[in-house]
Amino acid sequence: MKFGELTGRAGRETGHRAIDGVIDLDLSASPQNYELWLHYQNNWTPGLNDEIDELLSDDGHLDEKCSETLYDKYFNSSRLSAHVAQTGARLATELTAALHALNLAGSRTEEFNDCLDSAASELREEQIDSSRLIDIVTTLSRATHEMSEQNSELTRKLEESSSEINELRTHLESIRTESLTDSLTGIANRKQFDNMLRFRIQESRSLNYPLSLAICDIDHFKGFNDAWGHQTGDQVIRFVAATLDRLALKDHLVARYGGEEFVIIMPRVTINDAIPTLERMRRAIEVKKLKRKSTGDCLGNVTISMGVTELLKSDSSSTFIRRADEHLYAAKRSGRNRVVSDHPARSAA
Ligand code: GH3
Ligand code: MG
Ligand code: MG
Repeated sequence: MKFGELTGRAGRETGHRAIDGVIDLDLSASPQNYELWLHYQNNWTPGLNDEIDELLSDDGHLDEKCSETLYDKYFNSSRLSAHVAQTGARLATELTAALHALNLAGSRTEEFNDCLDSAASELREEQIDSSRLIDIVTTLSRATHEMSEQNSELTRKLEESSSEINELRTHLESIRTESLTDSLTGIANRKQFDNMLRFRIQESRSLNYPLSLAICDIDHFKGFNDAWGHQTGDQVIRFVAATLDRLALKDHLVARYGGEEFVIIMPRVTINDAIPTLERMRRAIEVKKLKRKSTGDCLGNVTISMGVTELLKSDSSSTFIRRADEHLYAAKRSGRNRVVSDHPARSAA
């Protein structure tokens, strides 16, 4: 959020306008709707305005569900960090309660030991009458009973904490998966790509395996969006992502790199072996007759261009990506709907 632009009189007016926008649309006055509208009215977030304009162009309405989806799509990462913070706080509370129960049990155990010690020393005295003996045994019996009750209470409390902590661990795992997944397509996002590329480069260097990297971009997608609208454009992005993912080999990672661009990390694959797989993907997309889901309208076909390169000894991850990107632009320049690689003679059209 660009708080700097929200100070002073002008800033307050910007805030009021955002609230008025939320009220005019009959949306709930939630912080999320306010944030969404603030970004929309000030055109702060690339892509968000096109999408809202498209939704409003039908009947000027935007329902609560749509605004929630938009919020998730554009401000997902801050939502996830809030989840992580909440989970961390619950975990801390749970651990404090478990520690408290253990400390309490510790001090009661000490009391029980003192009670046993004093009973033992009294029993060592030579002159002890039977009524005193009964007193001692009664005290010991009560203390043992209390101790056993306390132990079952402690076991119950610790079991409760352990199941709560397990639940929180599962929750954190699902947040982690979500933070590495692209919300539009369900495939890996840029963050997962960055992590995996680092790992695969290291692996390739230490085990002396080849490593190939492809970048794909949908051809003339701006025109497609302009003709059919942003939501239908999203449907196409989902279709391309699913096709690449389906045809990728096991261990390969397909990720959404940005807007309508995708990357494929192909470990233990030389450039010559990468090309047939990429050609299968390019062809599967080219031949598909697309239909608009909502109306069944025929949308024609889309094509993709690809650049692919193999890791060199001298590469850093950025020179590796840059070379794949240069090949992608060579594919665009030479007519699109093709794969361009390090060996132009082998690249197919
Ligand atoms: P080229 O063949 O040279 O790649 O042409 P292009 O029109 O595909 O290229 P350009 O980069 O100019 O346009 C990309 C367009 O992709 C711009 C934007 O409208 C669209 N876009 C980016 N992200 C999204 C998204 O998440 N959803 C939708 N529907 N469109 C997107
Ligand atoms: Mg592009
Ligand atoms: Mg494009």
